[in-house]
Amino acid sequence: MRSEYKLIFERSKAGRRGCDLPALDVPELCELVPEGMRAERRLNLPEIAEVDLVRHYTNLSRRNYGVDNGFYPLGSCTMKYNPKICEELPALFNGLHPLLDADMTQGALDMLYHLDQALCEITGMDKFTLQPAAGAHGEYTGLMIIRAYHELRQDAARTTIIVPDAAHGTNPASAAMAGFKIKEIKSAPDGSVDLDALRAAVGPDTAGLMLTNPSTLGLFETRISEIAQIVHEAGGLLYYDGANLNAIMGIVRPGDMGFDVMHVNLHKTFSTPHGGGGPGSGPVGVKAELIPYLPTPVIMACHGGRVTLDYNRPLSIGKVKSFFGNFSVMVKAYAYILSLGGRGLREASENAVLNANYVKEMLKDTYGLPYDRICMHECVLTPGELEQGGVRTLDIAKALIDRGYHPMTVYFPLIVHEAMMIEPTESESRETLDAFIAAMKDIAREAKEAPEALHAAPVTTPVGRPDEVTAARKPVVRYTADEDNR
Ligand SMILES: *Cc1c(COP(=O)(O)O)cnc(C)c1O
Repeated sequence: MRSEYKLIFERSKAGRRGCDLPALDVPELCELVPEGMRAERRLNLPEIAEVDLVRHYTNLSRRNYGVDNGFYPLGSCTMKYNPKICEELPALFNGLHPLLDADMTQGALDMLYHLDQALCEITGMDKFTLQPAAGAHGEYTGLMIIRAYHELRQDAARTTIIVPDAAHGTNPASAAMAGFKIKEIKSAPDGSVDLDALRAAVGPDTAGLMLTNPSTLGLFETRISEIAQIVHEAGGLLYYDGANLNAIMGIVRPGDMGFDVMHVNLHKTFSTPHGGGGPGSGPVGVKAELIPYLPTPVIMACHGGRVTLDYNRPLSIGKVKSFFGNFSVMVKAYAYILSLGGRGLREASENAVLNANYVKEMLKDTYGLPYDRICMHECVLTPGELEQGGVRTLDIAKALIDRGYHPMTVYFPLIVHEAMMIEPTESESRETLDAFIAAMKDIAREAKEAPEALHAAPVTTPVGRPDEVTAARKPVVRYTADEDNR
């Protein structure tokens, strides 16, 4: 830790006070506590004046970087700007308790029903469950549905899920958790699914294929109908990882591409900020044939506009989350969808794709571009020639921090050496993109002229380069002021 940054405990000086309490006019509590049960020493609480306290926390809050401070090009994440009105609307439902019965919560259930309908319209699926709390949770739910489908047909040999090597890490993990074996297939040289490898991989053991489209390389799978046909002909189902929906809203629909099950990340595409663990929401949509397997309760519209909850579903995989899932996230998604409308959603996707292609084109002569194709909502670059001078992706990411930017996603997707994945999103203006591009070019210039300086970046933060493996595997989250307190 650089010395100018102190913890509140390190600022403490005995006797300093931030407030004046009236004199005690009752017996001290500790006199009432039997001997032997009292604390052996005083609590080590910081003693600090009000102004120092205010400054300490104000300065800490300013060290937070978010999309409200600046550009946040983290790829595979869709860190776009979320309208503030969407944050306010969940409060409309503050008076509701999830245990209230359907008669008393018609407004909330009606909203959920219409969100389901809107997601069906956007994706081409026939029915959604809103329960899953995240994308990965949605994958697990969808895979359990695929499993239930094969089991009911007594097709027990279908135990393998095929996953391309460009998949998000959650895909094979979810498939394993749902009890499947995983067969990985390599991507073709242009970054798309290798159809020959797929043909060789399918067979009587194929339960399904999990596909991300646009892929984690930010590329659209152009031969999607052939992929769907190969898997369906082999008797498998098609799972669509819809985390990258931000690229295709209003343009193409997974349901029309032949997919049977999919999830959507409301916290990426539909106006919920994310990171740091949630709350998120990963609704799962299915084609008509799979509706019987959806988790209970299923939200249904009845005659006369009444919304009901159907628990009587013998083929259901059961509940996957308490109550209805993360309700506030759904309110935000519904508000966002209604406020943009069909045309607005399409425009959001078009601008997201345009912005990513702009960044790619402006930087492709400065950095390496492993797949020189039109990209979707994100692009993947590499250090290219700079690597010969000893500069790696990590150096470039850290140098961005010193220039006031959150780094892009680094070292993902795994199949690209030294990957840098940039997702600008639709929210950003031409000026913001130009300033970012200029910062990236400035880093490349520095990488050529003074590579050692880049190895030292970042120099503007409290911590420089932690040992990231140890920090992740053995985090020290407890502060101990001195030996005495351990
Ligand atoms: C983010 C993401 C996921 C996982 O979603 P979570 O909500 O983080 O669990 C899955 N697949 C892809 C392609 C993603 O980008």
